[in-house]
Amino acid sequence: MQRKILTVHAHPDDEVSRGGATIAHYTAQGVQAVLVTCTDGAAGEILNPDFGALPQGRTLAAQRAEELAASARALGYSTVHSLGFADSGFDGTAGGTDAFVKASTDAAAERLAALIEKEKPQVIVGYGTNHARDPHPDHIRANQVLTRCVELLGERDGSRVPDVFHVAFSRRRHRVLHEACGTAGVPSPYAPGLREPDTSFDDAEINTVISLSETAIERRLSALRCHKTQIAANSGWFALSASELYQAFPYDEYIRVAAPPGGRPCDDLFVASS
Ligand SMILES: [Zn+2]
Repeated sequence: MQRKILTVHAHPDDEVSRGGATIAHYTAQGVQAVLVTCTDGAAGEILNPDFGALPQGRTLAAQRAEELAASARALGYSTVHSLGFADSGFDGTAGGTDAFVKASTDAAAERLAALIEKEKPQVIVGYGTNHARDPHPDHIRANQVLTRCVELLGERDGSRVPDVFHVAFSRRRHRVLHEACGTAGVPSPYAPGLREPDTSFDDAEINTVISLSETAIERRLSALRCHKTQIAANSGWFALSASELYQAFPYDEYIRVAAPPGGRPCDDLFVASS
């Protein structure tokens, strides 16, 4: 049986920062990966001072769609779907009437359910309910829409509901990567996460840990470089090489929604179908 994973992300570039290396890991093994991006990212700004201005007549949404396509290719995604909403912006006031935060939960969930019923993945990766860790209104909306979508799928045919995992980033991972920056003598982009305990996941919340190869981590860095409007070549997120990241913390972390309480952590997103 062809193994298939479908991820639900809020904006272009979230597919890299939230589990990108996991997709590189699985697609290298022949797993098919499908990306659903809820919004166009048009409320963002050009954050890379080296990028300059957009070419005449080009919108930020068009630019970010191109960057997203390149990033998805780098990670091994075979398909990219847009859910078709506008970026609501960090304060939730952008995007006009098409803003993701203004969409009805049921209507957005139906749109997502139609894609899932067409793609038939065994595994879905999305966002959880730790909104202190991930406070962007579109990320909160992505959690609400995915949760409602899974309910709808269950009402139609409970036997065919995919196994759902939420991306996570533990306090331990923050600490280890911060210390690796210190060892390498480079500024740490992980410091803010350590200063604010509420923005990390408790280590005990993590119930799924995926082991990554150095190649998968390198492909994540390659995908991040594709988001040229968002990240400069000298960004702190490139301070550690793939080799240094691999030595320090070669894992992605998840919370499996259906995990039995007290069970052992699982090491495979396809635990239910293997
Ligand atoms: Zn985002």
